[in-house]
Amino acid sequence: MNEFELAAKACFDLHFGYEPERILFAPGRVNLIGEHIDYNGGRVLPCSLSIGTYAAASRRDDGLIRLASADMGGEAVSVAFDELMALPHEPGAFGRFSWAAYPLGVAAKLASAGYAAGGFDMAVSGSLPRGSGLSSSASLEVLTCAVLAALYDLELDGVNASKLSLAAERDCAGVNCGIMDQFICAVGRADHALLLDTHSLEHSYFPFDPGEYTLLIMNTKKPRRLADSKYNERRAECEEALRIINTALGEARPCLCSIEPEEFERVFGLLPPVLLKRARHAVTENARTKLAAEFLSRGDMLRFGELLNASHDSLKNDYEVTGFELDTIVEAARRSEGVLGARMTGAGFGGCAIALAPSRLAESISEKIAAEYREAVGYDCEIYSAKTADAPFAEK
Ligand code: ADP
Ligand code: MG
Repeated sequence: MNEFELAAKACFDLHFGYEPERILFAPGRVNLIGEHIDYNGGRVLPCSLSIGTYAAASRRDDGLIRLASADMGGEAVSVAFDELMALPHEPGAFGRFSWAAYPLGVAAKLASAGYAAGGFDMAVSGSLPRGSGLSSSASLEVLTCAVLAALYDLELDGVNASKLSLAAERDCAGVNCGIMDQFICAVGRADHALLLDTHSLEHSYFPFDPGEYTLLIMNTKKPRRLADSKYNERRAECEEALRIINTALGEARPCLCSIEPEEFERVFGLLPPVLLKRARHAVTENARTKLAAEFLSRGDMLRFGELLNASHDSLKNDYEVTGFELDTIVEAARRSEGVLGARMTGAGFGGCAIALAPSRLAESISEKIAAEYREAVGYDCEIYSAKTADAPFAEK
Protein backbone atom coordinates (compact mmCIF):
# COMPACT_ATOMS: atom_id res chain seq x y z
CA MET A 1 0.00 0.00 0.00
CA ASN A 2 1.23 3.52 -0.72
CA GLU A 3 1.27 6.24 1.94
CA PHE A 4 -2.10 7.67 0.87
CA GLU A 5 -3.83 4.29 0.97
CA LEU A 6 -2.34 3.80 4.41
CA ALA A 7 -3.55 7.25 5.47
CA ALA A 8 -7.09 6.49 4.25
CA LYS A 9 -7.02 3.17 6.11
CA ALA A 10 -5.66 4.77 9.29
CA CYS A 11 -8.32 7.48 9.10
CA PHE A 12 -10.98 4.78 8.67
CA ASP A 13 -9.65 2.93 11.69
CA LEU A 14 -9.50 6.11 13.78
CA HIS A 15 -13.07 7.14 13.09
CA PHE A 16 -14.85 3.83 12.59
CA GLY A 17 -12.65 1.33 14.46
CA TYR A 18 -12.77 -1.68 12.16
CA GLU A 19 -11.15 -2.95 8.92
CA PRO A 20 -12.47 -1.42 5.66
CA GLU A 21 -13.80 -3.79 3.01
CA ARG A 22 -12.34 -1.95 0.05
CA ILE A 23 -9.56 0.47 -0.88
CA LEU A 24 -10.28 2.40 -4.08
CA PHE A 25 -8.69 5.19 -6.09
CA ALA A 26 -9.86 7.92 -8.47
CA PRO A 27 -7.35 10.10 -10.33
CA GLY A 28 -7.02 13.85 -10.64
CA ARG A 29 -6.63 15.26 -14.11
CA VAL A 30 -4.64 17.62 -16.22
CA ASN A 31 -6.03 19.08 -19.42
CA LEU A 32 -3.43 19.05 -22.20
CA ILE A 33 -5.37 21.43 -24.44
CA GLY A 34 -8.93 22.60 -25.06
CA GLU A 35 -9.30 25.13 -22.25
CA HIS A 36 -12.45 26.96 -21.23
CA ILE A 37 -14.40 25.26 -23.98
CA ASP A 38 -16.04 22.37 -22.15
CA TYR A 39 -18.95 24.71 -21.45
CA ASN A 40 -18.96 25.84 -25.09
CA GLY A 41 -19.52 22.33 -26.47
CA GLY A 42 -15.89 22.10 -27.58
CA ARG A 43 -13.30 19.34 -27.65
CA VAL A 44 -10.94 18.81 -24.75
CA LEU A 45 -7.89 16.58 -24.39
CA PRO A 46 -7.23 15.71 -20.73
CA CYS A 47 -5.23 12.91 -19.04
CA SER A 48 -6.00 11.11 -15.78
CA LEU A 49 -3.15 11.40 -13.27
CA SER A 50 -1.49 9.01 -10.85
CA ILE A 51 -2.09 11.61 -8.14
CA GLY A 52 -5.69 11.52 -6.96
CA THR A 53 -7.89 10.48 -4.05
CA TYR A 54 -7.98 7.17 -2.16
CA ALA A 55 -10.87 5.77 -0.15
CA ALA A 56 -11.12 3.08 2.48
CA ALA A 57 -14.77 2.04 2.55
CA SER A 58 -17.32 -0.47 3.80
CA ARG A 59 -21.00 -1.02 3.21
CA ARG A 60 -23.45 -0.47 6.06
CA ASP A 61 -26.83 -2.09 6.03
CA ASP A 62 -28.42 0.30 8.54
CA GLY A 63 -28.71 3.18 6.05
CA LEU A 64 -26.17 5.40 7.79
CA ILE A 65 -23.49 7.31 5.85
CA ARG A 66 -20.31 8.27 7.73
CA LEU A 67 -17.51 10.21 6.04
CA ALA A 68 -14.06 11.26 7.21
CA SER A 69 -11.05 12.82 5.48
CA ALA A 70 -7.44 12.37 6.55
CA ASP A 71 -6.80 15.79 4.99
CA MET A 72 -9.47 17.78 6.78
CA GLY A 73 -9.32 16.77 10.41
CA GLY A 74 -12.39 17.19 12.59
CA GLU A 75 -15.16 14.75 13.34
CA ALA A 76 -16.63 12.33 10.82
CA VAL A 77 -19.81 13.58 9.12
CA SER A 78 -22.74 11.30 9.83
CA VAL A 79 -26.08 11.37 7.97
CA ALA A 80 -28.90 8.85 7.57
CA PHE A 81 -29.66 7.99 3.95
CA ASP A 82 -33.35 8.88 4.42
CA GLU A 83 -32.37 12.27 5.80
CA LEU A 84 -30.07 12.82 2.81
CA MET A 85 -32.85 11.90 0.38
CA ALA A 86 -35.13 14.49 1.93
CA LEU A 87 -32.68 17.33 1.21
CA PRO A 88 -33.28 19.61 -1.77
CA HIS A 89 -30.37 19.40 -4.23
CA GLU A 90 -29.08 22.91 -3.63
CA PRO A 91 -25.92 24.36 -2.04
CA GLY A 92 -27.95 25.88 0.79
CA ALA A 93 -28.94 22.41 1.96
CA PHE A 94 -25.52 20.80 1.52
CA GLY A 95 -23.34 23.69 2.72
CA ARG A 96 -23.36 22.56 6.35
CA PHE A 97 -21.50 19.38 5.39
CA SER A 98 -18.46 21.38 4.21
CA TRP A 99 -16.14 19.11 2.10
CA ALA A 100 -18.54 16.18 2.59
CA ALA A 101 -21.08 18.00 0.38
CA TYR A 102 -19.23 16.42 -2.58
CA PRO A 103 -19.57 12.74 -1.60
CA LEU A 104 -23.03 13.28 -0.08
CA GLY A 105 -24.15 15.08 -3.24
CA VAL A 106 -22.99 12.10 -5.30
CA ALA A 107 -24.82 9.61 -3.05
CA ALA A 108 -27.99 11.71 -3.31
CA LYS A 109 -27.73 12.00 -7.10
CA LEU A 110 -27.10 8.25 -7.53
CA ALA A 111 -30.09 7.35 -5.39
CA SER A 112 -32.33 9.91 -7.13
CA ALA A 113 -31.34 8.42 -10.47
CA GLY A 114 -32.61 5.05 -9.27
CA TYR A 115 -29.35 3.32 -8.32
CA ALA A 116 -29.86 1.06 -5.28
CA ALA A 117 -27.16 2.62 -3.11
CA GLY A 118 -27.38 2.77 0.67
CA GLY A 119 -25.34 3.45 3.80
CA PHE A 120 -21.55 3.27 3.91
CA ASP A 121 -18.48 4.30 5.89
CA MET A 122 -15.76 6.04 3.87
CA ALA A 123 -12.46 7.64 4.82
CA VAL A 124 -10.49 9.48 2.12
CA SER A 125 -6.96 10.72 1.64
CA GLY A 126 -5.73 12.72 -1.34
CA SER A 127 -2.34 13.07 -3.02
CA LEU A 128 -3.50 16.02 -5.17
CA PRO A 129 -3.01 19.64 -4.24
CA ARG A 130 -6.56 20.82 -3.46
CA GLY A 131 -7.96 23.91 -5.12
CA SER A 132 -5.09 24.03 -7.66
CA GLY A 133 -6.95 23.12 -10.80
CA LEU A 134 -6.05 19.41 -10.90
CA SER A 135 -9.65 18.56 -10.00
CA SER A 136 -9.49 17.18 -6.51
CA SER A 137 -13.25 17.83 -6.33
CA ALA A 138 -14.06 15.69 -9.40
CA SER A 139 -11.64 13.05 -8.12
CA LEU A 140 -13.57 12.88 -4.82
CA GLU A 141 -16.94 12.73 -6.60
CA VAL A 142 -15.91 9.97 -9.01
CA LEU A 143 -14.28 8.10 -6.14
CA THR A 144 -17.62 8.14 -4.32
CA CYS A 145 -19.30 6.70 -7.43
CA ALA A 146 -16.65 3.97 -7.57
CA VAL A 147 -17.08 3.19 -3.87
CA LEU A 148 -20.87 2.91 -4.10
CA ALA A 149 -20.67 0.91 -7.34
CA ALA A 150 -18.27 -1.54 -5.67
CA LEU A 151 -20.12 -1.83 -2.35
CA TYR A 152 -23.60 -2.11 -3.88
CA ASP A 153 -22.74 -3.91 -7.13
CA LEU A 154 -24.23 -1.09 -9.16
CA GLU A 155 -24.19 -1.27 -12.94
CA LEU A 156 -22.78 2.18 -13.31
CA ASP A 157 -20.71 3.14 -16.35
CA GLY A 158 -18.26 6.02 -16.71
CA VAL A 159 -20.62 8.26 -18.66
CA ASN A 160 -23.34 8.04 -16.02
CA ALA A 161 -20.84 8.29 -13.17
CA SER A 162 -19.53 11.54 -14.69
CA LYS A 163 -22.98 12.98 -15.31
CA LEU A 164 -24.09 12.26 -11.74
CA SER A 165 -20.82 13.61 -10.32
CA LEU A 166 -21.20 16.78 -12.36
CA ALA A 167 -24.80 17.15 -11.16
CA ALA A 168 -23.58 16.82 -7.55
CA GLU A 169 -20.87 19.45 -8.06
CA ARG A 170 -23.29 21.89 -9.70
CA ASP A 171 -26.44 21.41 -7.64
CA CYS A 172 -25.15 20.34 -4.22
CA ALA A 173 -21.69 21.96 -3.99
CA GLY A 174 -22.80 24.95 -6.10
CA VAL A 175 -19.83 24.99 -8.51
CA ASN A 176 -20.90 25.68 -12.07
CA CYS A 177 -18.34 23.66 -14.07
CA GLY A 178 -18.33 21.74 -17.38
CA ILE A 179 -18.33 17.95 -17.83
CA MET A 180 -14.62 17.50 -18.61
CA ASP A 181 -13.29 17.04 -15.06
CA GLN A 182 -15.69 14.34 -13.97
CA PHE A 183 -15.49 12.60 -17.33
CA ILE A 184 -11.72 12.18 -17.39
CA CYS A 185 -11.52 11.30 -13.68
CA ALA A 186 -14.06 8.54 -14.40
CA VAL A 187 -12.86 7.04 -17.70
CA GLY A 188 -9.21 8.11 -18.19
CA ARG A 189 -6.59 5.49 -19.00
CA ALA A 190 -2.90 5.27 -18.11
CA ASP A 191 -0.60 6.39 -20.95
CA HIS A 192 -3.52 7.91 -22.87
CA ALA A 193 -5.16 11.24 -23.34
CA LEU A 194 -8.91 11.36 -23.94
CA LEU A 195 -10.34 13.42 -26.77
CA LEU A 196 -13.82 14.32 -25.57
CA ASP A 197 -16.45 16.20 -27.53
CA THR A 198 -18.23 17.94 -24.67
CA HIS A 199 -21.36 18.51 -26.77
CA SER A 200 -22.01 14.94 -27.94
CA LEU A 201 -19.87 13.22 -25.27
CA GLU A 202 -18.27 11.19 -28.07
CA HIS A 203 -14.81 10.26 -26.89
CA SER A 204 -11.74 8.34 -27.94
CA TYR A 205 -8.41 7.52 -26.37
CA PHE A 206 -5.13 8.69 -27.90
CA PRO A 207 -1.82 7.21 -26.79
CA PHE A 208 0.04 9.80 -24.75
CA ASP A 209 3.64 8.81 -25.17
CA PRO A 210 5.83 11.90 -25.03
CA GLY A 211 8.94 9.81 -25.83
CA GLU A 212 12.02 11.58 -24.54
CA TYR A 213 9.86 14.40 -23.15
CA THR A 214 8.25 14.80 -19.76
CA LEU A 215 5.06 16.68 -19.02
CA LEU A 216 5.76 19.05 -16.14
CA ILE A 217 2.88 20.33 -14.05
CA MET A 218 3.78 23.70 -12.53
CA ASN A 219 1.61 24.77 -9.61
CA THR A 220 1.74 28.57 -9.18
CA LYS A 221 0.32 28.24 -5.63
CA LYS A 222 -1.57 31.43 -6.37
CA PRO A 223 -4.92 31.39 -4.59
CA ARG A 224 -7.68 31.37 -7.21
CA ARG A 225 -9.52 34.32 -5.76
CA LEU A 226 -10.78 35.74 -9.04
CA ALA A 227 -11.41 32.41 -10.70
CA ASP A 228 -15.04 31.82 -9.75
CA SER A 229 -16.43 35.26 -10.58
CA LYS A 230 -14.43 35.49 -13.82
CA TYR A 231 -15.43 31.96 -14.78
CA ASN A 232 -19.09 32.91 -14.54
CA GLU A 233 -18.41 36.15 -16.41
CA ARG A 234 -16.74 34.24 -19.28
CA ARG A 235 -19.61 31.77 -19.47
CA ALA A 236 -22.08 34.65 -19.70
CA GLU A 237 -19.98 36.40 -22.37
CA CYS A 238 -19.88 33.23 -24.47
CA GLU A 239 -23.65 32.78 -24.17
CA GLU A 240 -24.17 36.37 -25.27
CA ALA A 241 -21.79 35.97 -28.24
CA LEU A 242 -23.66 32.83 -29.33
CA ARG A 243 -27.01 34.61 -28.98
CA ILE A 244 -25.84 37.49 -31.20
CA ILE A 245 -24.45 35.12 -33.83
CA ASN A 246 -27.61 33.00 -33.86
CA THR A 247 -29.86 36.04 -34.15
CA ALA A 248 -27.82 37.52 -37.00
CA LEU A 249 -27.67 34.24 -38.91
CA GLY A 250 -31.23 33.23 -38.10
CA GLU A 251 -29.85 29.91 -36.87
CA ALA A 252 -29.93 27.96 -33.65
CA ARG A 253 -26.36 26.79 -33.18
CA PRO A 254 -26.20 24.83 -29.93
CA CYS A 255 -22.79 26.13 -28.86
CA LEU A 256 -19.92 28.41 -29.93
CA CYS A 257 -17.71 25.45 -30.76
CA SER A 258 -20.14 24.22 -33.41
CA ILE A 259 -18.83 27.16 -35.47
CA GLU A 260 -15.78 26.29 -37.59
CA PRO A 261 -12.94 28.84 -37.91
CA GLU A 262 -13.79 29.57 -41.59
CA GLU A 263 -17.41 30.31 -40.71
CA PHE A 264 -16.34 32.44 -37.82
CA GLU A 265 -14.45 34.71 -40.23
CA ARG A 266 -17.84 35.59 -41.70
CA VAL A 267 -19.63 36.33 -38.44
CA PHE A 268 -17.10 37.93 -36.18
CA GLY A 269 -17.80 41.40 -37.51
CA LEU A 270 -21.19 41.13 -35.80
CA LEU A 271 -19.70 40.98 -32.34
CA PRO A 272 -18.59 43.83 -30.08
CA PRO A 273 -14.80 43.76 -29.43
CA VAL A 274 -14.74 41.91 -26.11
CA LEU A 275 -17.22 39.23 -27.16
CA LEU A 276 -15.31 38.83 -30.43
CA LYS A 277 -12.16 37.96 -28.48
CA ARG A 278 -13.96 35.50 -26.21
CA ALA A 279 -15.67 33.75 -29.12
CA ARG A 280 -12.46 33.68 -31.17
CA HIS A 281 -10.72 31.86 -28.33
CA ALA A 282 -13.48 29.23 -28.19
CA VAL A 283 -13.51 28.64 -31.95
CA THR A 284 -9.73 28.54 -32.43
CA GLU A 285 -9.06 26.50 -29.27
CA ASN A 286 -11.52 23.90 -30.48
CA ALA A 287 -9.64 23.64 -33.79
CA ARG A 288 -6.27 23.45 -31.98
CA THR A 289 -7.50 20.58 -29.82
CA LYS A 290 -8.46 18.47 -32.81
CA LEU A 291 -5.05 19.09 -34.38
CA ALA A 292 -3.27 18.38 -31.09
CA ALA A 293 -4.85 14.92 -30.88
CA GLU A 294 -3.63 14.21 -34.42
CA PHE A 295 -0.09 15.33 -33.61
CA LEU A 296 -0.11 13.20 -30.45
CA SER A 297 -1.19 10.14 -32.37
CA ARG A 298 1.69 10.69 -34.80
CA GLY A 299 4.14 11.33 -31.98
CA ASP A 300 4.83 14.81 -33.41
CA MET A 301 5.73 16.46 -30.11
CA LEU A 302 7.25 19.48 -31.79
CA ARG A 303 3.99 20.59 -33.36
CA PHE A 304 2.03 19.50 -30.31
CA GLY A 305 4.24 21.89 -28.29
CA GLU A 306 3.54 24.75 -30.71
CA LEU A 307 -0.18 24.27 -30.11
CA LEU A 308 0.36 24.45 -26.34
CA ASN A 309 1.99 27.84 -26.86
CA ALA A 310 -0.78 29.06 -29.16
CA SER A 311 -3.39 27.93 -26.64
CA HIS A 312 -1.78 29.88 -23.82
CA ASP A 313 -1.45 32.99 -25.98
CA SER A 314 -5.13 32.82 -26.86
CA LEU A 315 -6.09 32.35 -23.19
CA LYS A 316 -3.89 35.29 -22.30
CA ASN A 317 -4.83 37.75 -25.04
CA ASP A 318 -8.33 36.81 -26.15
CA TYR A 319 -9.83 35.07 -23.15
CA GLU A 320 -7.90 37.04 -20.53
CA VAL A 321 -7.82 34.34 -17.86
CA THR A 322 -4.09 33.95 -17.19
CA GLY A 323 -2.61 36.69 -14.98
CA PHE A 324 0.89 37.58 -13.82
CA GLU A 325 1.75 34.32 -12.04
CA LEU A 326 0.64 31.98 -14.84
CA ASP A 327 2.27 34.14 -17.51
CA THR A 328 5.49 34.30 -15.48
CA ILE A 329 5.74 30.54 -15.01
CA VAL A 330 4.84 29.82 -18.64
CA GLU A 331 7.39 32.31 -19.94
CA ALA A 332 10.08 30.89 -17.63
CA ALA A 333 9.32 27.42 -19.00
CA ARG A 334 9.40 28.58 -22.61
CA ARG A 335 12.80 30.20 -22.11
CA SER A 336 14.24 26.90 -20.86
CA GLU A 337 16.45 24.79 -23.08
CA GLY A 338 14.59 22.25 -25.19
CA VAL A 339 11.07 23.04 -23.91
CA LEU A 340 8.61 22.46 -26.78
CA GLY A 341 5.69 24.42 -25.35
CA ALA A 342 3.93 25.60 -22.22
CA ARG A 343 0.46 26.80 -21.28
CA MET A 344 -1.85 27.40 -18.36
CA THR A 345 -4.28 24.57 -17.62
CA GLY A 346 -7.57 24.60 -15.72
CA ALA A 347 -9.71 27.63 -14.96
CA GLY A 348 -6.83 30.14 -14.87
CA PHE A 349 -5.98 33.16 -12.67
CA GLY A 350 -3.76 30.81 -10.66
CA GLY A 351 -3.65 27.06 -10.31
CA CYS A 352 -1.40 25.12 -12.67
CA ALA A 353 0.42 25.36 -15.99
CA ILE A 354 2.06 22.58 -18.01
CA ALA A 355 5.26 22.37 -20.05
CA LEU A 356 6.72 19.74 -22.33
CA ALA A 357 10.39 19.45 -21.34
CA PRO A 358 13.18 17.06 -22.40
CA SER A 359 13.25 14.30 -19.76
CA ARG A 360 17.02 14.42 -19.39
CA LEU A 361 16.82 18.12 -18.45
CA ALA A 362 13.54 17.99 -16.52
CA GLU A 363 15.17 18.37 -13.12
CA SER A 364 17.45 21.28 -13.98
CA ILE A 365 14.66 23.01 -15.93
CA SER A 366 12.31 22.64 -12.96
CA GLU A 367 14.89 24.19 -10.66
CA LYS A 368 15.47 27.06 -13.03
CA ILE A 369 11.76 27.77 -13.48
CA ALA A 370 11.23 27.62 -9.71
CA ALA A 371 14.07 30.09 -9.10
CA GLU A 372 12.83 32.53 -11.75
CA TYR A 373 9.30 32.27 -10.41
CA ARG A 374 10.38 32.96 -6.83
CA GLU A 375 12.40 35.93 -8.01
CA ALA A 376 9.48 37.46 -9.96
CA VAL A 377 6.53 36.52 -7.76
CA GLY A 378 8.05 36.41 -4.28
CA TYR A 379 6.94 32.93 -3.22
CA ASP A 380 7.55 29.31 -4.23
CA CYS A 381 5.82 27.26 -6.89
CA GLU A 382 5.73 23.46 -6.97
CA ILE A 383 6.68 21.41 -10.01
CA TYR A 384 5.70 17.76 -10.55
CA SER A 385 6.44 15.30 -13.36
CA ALA A 386 3.04 14.13 -14.55
CA LYS A 387 2.34 10.40 -14.53
CA THR A 388 -0.91 9.04 -15.88
CA ALA A 389 -3.11 6.34 -14.30
CA ASP A 390 -6.26 4.31 -14.96
CA ALA A 391 -9.54 5.74 -13.70
CA PRO A 392 -12.12 3.47 -12.03
CA PHE A 393 -14.52 3.44 -15.03
CA ALA A 394 -11.83 3.27 -17.74
CA GLU A 395 -13.17 1.81 -20.99
CA LYS A 396 -11.24 -0.73 -23.04
P1 ADP B 1 -9.88 21.54 -7.41
O1 ADP B 1 -10.99 20.66 -7.88
O2 ADP B 1 -9.27 22.34 -8.50
O3 ADP B 1 -8.85 20.81 -6.62
P2 ADP B 1 -12.03 22.73 -5.93
O4 ADP B 1 -12.15 23.98 -5.16
O5 ADP B 1 -12.98 22.50 -7.05
O6 ADP B 1 -10.52 22.62 -6.42
O7 ADP B 1 -12.20 21.49 -4.95
C1 ADP B 1 -11.49 21.41 -3.76
C2 ADP B 1 -12.43 20.95 -2.64
O8 ADP B 1 -12.76 19.54 -2.83
C3 ADP B 1 -11.80 21.01 -1.29
O9 ADP B 1 -11.94 22.32 -0.72
C4 ADP B 1 -12.64 19.98 -0.53
O10 ADP B 1 -13.89 20.51 -0.17
C5 ADP B 1 -12.87 18.91 -1.56
N1 ADP B 1 -11.81 17.88 -1.47
C6 ADP B 1 -10.92 17.53 -2.43
N2 ADP B 1 -10.07 16.56 -1.99
C7 ADP B 1 -10.43 16.29 -0.72
C8 ADP B 1 -9.93 15.40 0.29
N3 ADP B 1 -8.88 14.61 0.08
N4 ADP B 1 -10.56 15.42 1.49
C9 ADP B 1 -11.62 16.22 1.72
N5 ADP B 1 -12.11 17.08 0.81
C10 ADP B 1 -11.54 17.13 -0.39
MG1 MG C 1 -12.81 21.33 -8.76
